[in-house]
Amino acid sequence: MTIWYSENYTENCKFDIKVNRHIYSEQTPFQKIDFFESEEFGTFFTLDGFMMVNEKDEFIYHEMIVHVPMAVNPEIKRVLVIGGGDGGTVRELTRYEGIELIDLVEIDERVVRLCQEYLPITASKLDDSRVRMHFEDGIEFVKKYDGYYDLIIVDSTDPIGPGEGLFTIDFYNNCYKALNDRGILINQHESPYYENDAQEMKRAHAKLKNIFEITKVYQYHMPTYASGHWLFGFASKVYDPISDHKDKEWERLGLITKYYNSNIHVGSFMLPTYVQKMLENA
Ligand code: SAM
Repeated sequence: MTIWYSENYTENCKFDIKVNRHIYSEQTPFQKIDFFESEEFGTFFTLDGFMMVNEKDEFIYHEMIVHVPMAVNPEIKRVLVIGGGDGGTVRELTRYEGIELIDLVEIDERVVRLCQEYLPITASKLDDSRVRMHFEDGIEFVKKYDGYYDLIIVDSTDPIGPGEGLFTIDFYNNCYKALNDRGILINQHESPYYENDAQEMKRAHAKLKNIFEITKVYQYHMPTYASGHWLFGFASKVYDPISDHKDKEWERLGLITKYYNSNIHVGSFMLPTYVQKMLENA
């Protein structure tokens, strides 16, 4: 019998993946975690019925969330990752020798342990000596710091369940405070395409605009997230992601990437007209 994983994008639209096997399922105190094995996307995992990470396209998300800020400030040394328990963001960060500390704050330890078991390539650098893992709520964790981090990456779920508080004005204010005076915040910025996601995207952007000196949005295409058209927020105290782009410096590092490059860096900030309008009116 053929088994299909189905995800509802809206009431009128869904996405199906043919799966070979439903490998694992667990309800934790925070969310329901499922792992599947498929021909098209390899092993993938979902939280509460939404695709998080799969072996085939995770490089797009993780390269774009990390290399964009690193090519703007290659001097980054202390990084806080909130969420991101699959380890993909940490893996990309560990490629930079100049980074001295990566604090990973994941509310659900089971995500980390299961990804280490079923998605070992994504989770492969969680044991790097520069990584400190904290299994607690990122909303509380960030309150403890003042001017400490060069970069905060919010690699979160959507604004539902435990991820809801990661899209609030209080949380963004606390991130601002936890960053030093050259700090950069990158956050999961939802998608402009379907109405619900677009509303969340506008709300997140409006809040950040009120706090940070510079707020930009950049896009990437993610085949397994609703509509395939997704955004990250770039918020900074001093850096403009285009005029402060250190492309030659980044290229000299010689990192091999599959999606990110210096042209994509610039191009990803060039947004379609309808998205620009949404952000202007946010
Ligand atoms: N790439 C994914 C996406 O956008 O679909 C996101 C990665 S997923 C692993 C996000 C993680 O954020 C989840 O493992 C979840 O447990 C964690 N998370 C949600 N709310 C959190 C919070 N308040 N503090 C820390 N981690 C949180």
